Amino acid sequence: MTKSIKPLIQHTDVVLMGAGIMSATLGIILKELDPTITIQIFERADEAGTESSDAWNNAGTGHAAYCELNYTPQKPDGSIDTSKATKIAESFEVSKEFWSYLVEKKYVPKPAEFITAIPHVSFVWGDTNVDYLRKRFAALKGNPMFDGMLFTEDRDQIDQWAPIVMKGRDTKQPLAATRMALGTDVNFGTLTRSLMSQLAKMPGVTVHYNIEALDLDPDGNGGWDVFIRNLLSEEKDQVNTKFVFIGAGGATLHLLKRAEINERKGYGGFPVSGLWLKCLNDDIIKQHQAKVYGKASVGSPPMSVPHVDTRIIDGRKELLFGPFAGFTTKFLKNGSMMDLPKSIRFDNAIPMIFAGMKNMPLTKYLIDQVRQTPEQRLEALKEYVPMAELKDWELKEAGQRVQVIKKDKKEGGVLEFGTEVVVAEDGTVAALLGASPGASTAAAVMMGLLSKCFKKQFHTEAWQSKLKEMAPSLNIALSKDEASLEATRKRTSSILGLGEG
Ligand SMILES: Cc1cc2nc3c(=O)[nH]c(=O)nc-3n(C[C@H](O)[C@H](O)[C@H](O)COP(=O)(O)OP(=O)(O)OC[C@H]3O[C@@H](n4cnc5c(N)ncnc54)[C@H](O)[C@@H]3O)c2cc1C
Repeated sequence: MTKSIKPLIQHTDVVLMGAGIMSATLGIILKELDPTITIQIFERADEAGTESSDAWNNAGTGHAAYCELNYTPQKPDGSIDTSKATKIAESFEVSKEFWSYLVEKKYVPKPAEFITAIPHVSFVWGDTNVDYLRKRFAALKGNPMFDGMLFTEDRDQIDQWAPIVMKGRDTKQPLAATRMALGTDVNFGTLTRSLMSQLAKMPGVTVHYNIEALDLDPDGNGGWDVFIRNLLSEEKDQVNTKFVFIGAGGATLHLLKRAEINERKGYGGFPVSGLWLKCLNDDIIKQHQAKVYGKASVGSPPMSVPHVDTRIIDGRKELLFGPFAGFTTKFLKNGSMMDLPKSIRFDNAIPMIFAGMKNMPLTKYLIDQVRQTPEQRLEALKEYVPMAELKDWELKEAGQRVQVIKKDKKEGGVLEFGTEVVVAEDGTVAALLGASPGASTAAAVMMGLLSKCFKKQFHTEAWQSKLKEMAPSLNIALSKDEASLEATRKRTSSILGLGEG
């Protein structure tokens, strides 16, 4: 037997691999739906939420598509596609409802410890981008999800919204901005750790730290044997379960490849590292009160859209700029350089080669980003904060993202930038791949899993009414139901302390 602090449970209904925001969210949802369900959680680190979910490792943006321009692409005919933005905005309302439920249940600390109202601003310069933002605003205007969005081309107005972005700016530059007061900053790390400690207190749940999940094999009875290693003692062991969720962040791909399910085939991963510039000057930090998202420069991937972000981390106001992307072969921040080479297998080699060939400009972009000097990074920052000086900013490592590479009949292989849930046909294994919009939509994504993985229970009156209690708008298109949207925003803003809503 292992020397893990808590004894292993030989059989549980559920095994969650990894203790990030996804496993934490799924664990709580399952426990609320069925208090008798037994769950065992394995985390390789000595604490929950230390990889992508930690506040310093992600941007903490409550992604609701208010300011992220990559969610509203321009179509070849010049019009703006708002479908993805609408879906993300609706999913974020589900998150706020779920978090409100957690607050009311006292499963999480005061909401101010994990969520803060911070206006979301989109800011662009140059005629083409100004024209794009004008069109985007017009396209979103009648959509209730974006009610309250303001648009301006007036420099004084932008100066009020984001003074550090305007100070010292070229006066001849055409500018435009939109602002949503309803935006948020979320500390997903605090939220994850609170949920994990709540789970640890619940009967039938065991959370193990310093234990790495290694493999999973069918047990011959419709369930799974899960193989683990105690990282303190190096001893190996195994447990049995009916259902496995692989929520290992960047390392999910490795574990998915080990699960003997057809659905794993053809998936590969492309790791992208990140760096922030963190502001050290309190005067500058104080002057900024927004998340200001720009437009990705031509050729750069959507996840590297620069933004100047007010953050609230552990009660302190911070200011981050970035992320600068970079090429790495690690799948986790605390991973191994062998992660990428080890992930290449017979079934995904072809999609990976095709995706690699088609994305040479991306690879070049990432390598160029890694090679940037501090002065070059300062130049990028000055596009957003013209008066920035190197002495006021330090470099800080962000989390790892592993973008999904998928087999594609036409293209051979494609690189995706979204979040992908892979579920075995019989629903006994599910895995979460990809990064964006990530943590912000964890509640909707994990609730979405249930119909495939807990088919029998999902349609019961008991589960349906509990789901309605946790997330009243889960199956409602809020963008088409203004009254429900208004009601839910009013309620969640009040519970989460986000002001008027
Ligand atoms: C630079 C950057 C910026 C981002 N910005 C945002 C943002 O603004 N808003 C947003 O909503 N999302 C953002 N995201 C995405 C978001 O951080 C992720 O979608 C989310 O944190 C993923 O949660 P997770 O639980 O899947 O993974 P993680 O938080 O990475 O957790 C996975 C856990 O699994 C553990 N683990 C790994 N392998 C094993 C194993 N074999 N056995 C046991 N445990 C294992 C890890 O130690 C880790 O604790 C960003 C991500 C990055 C990298």
